[in-house]
Amino acid sequence: MTYTTRFAPSPTGLLHLGHAYSALVAAGRAEARDGSFLLRIEDIDTARCKPEFEAAILADLSWLGISWQEPVLRQSDRRPAYDAALDRLAEMGLCYPCRCSRSDIRAALSAPQEGVAGPDGPVYPGTCRGRPMSEATPRDAIRLDMGRALDLLNGVPGFEETGPGLAGHHQPARAEMILGIGDIVLARRDIGTSYHVAVVVDDAAQGITEVVRGQDLISATPIHRVLQALLGLPEPAYHHHRLIRDEAGRRLAKRDDARAIRHYRDSGLSPDQVRALVGL
Ligand code: GLU
Repeated sequence: MTYTTRFAPSPTGLLHLGHAYSALVAAGRAEARDGSFLLRIEDIDTARCKPEFEAAILADLSWLGISWQEPVLRQSDRRPAYDAALDRLAEMGLCYPCRCSRSDIRAALSAPQEGVAGPDGPVYPGTCRGRPMSEATPRDAIRLDMGRALDLLNGVPGFEETGPGLAGHHQPARAEMILGIGDIVLARRDIGTSYHVAVVVDDAAQGITEVVRGQDLISATPIHRVLQALLGLPEPAYHHHRLIRDEAGRRLAKRDDARAIRHYRDSGLSPDQVRALVGL
């Protein structure tokens, strides 16, 4: 199987040094393996994504000397595929509509012993679990009944981690990682789908054999493995790379314009100097 990886930015701001590192690592791994490097624009959140940021992403990657295999996949074109995945999970009896607002969830979690934080925020207390899908309205989010899903899968599927420090080890997704995640949202009420569903559907559609992304996303990987196993999708390997941090040790964020690739470019640095800034 040809090694295939991808860089999957969301066009909600300018790319910063952390993105440069991620894209360079992924493109470098593809090149070293004579494989393919693909680009995916993760623009499901139409209210936050802007065409000018997408144009800036393509321009900044090209300036860095990165090239990708066409076509570029845009998640905003892929809604039917995400809906099909959601329908399949619903047919398996694993989904329920949820009408809880953020404040309902906060209130339910104020009880002692509850309120564990997962990768998507506070773990949902299960208030709407068991509501039938026939009651779903456009004002509902759709959640995965994680307990049922794990029963069906006989536990939590593992994943192969090829990232730093874990090279070559099959890294089982620990059960507590999933229990601390709870009933994740599969379809947000505002956008009708979610990051988790879109990512697993597209990684499969693009034939991704290794997902290269930052260690900040490692807690999402067990969720992605659960969805892949439920949907019968192939299992890629995962390479979670180190994060680029600022002087205070904080992970860079999109609003951190001082570390935008564009900023370095405009101030006269060469692509090689930007590579050097991220230790490449
Ligand atoms: N779109 C995500 C981001 O910009 C990356 C998702 C992924 O690589 O799985 O952080």
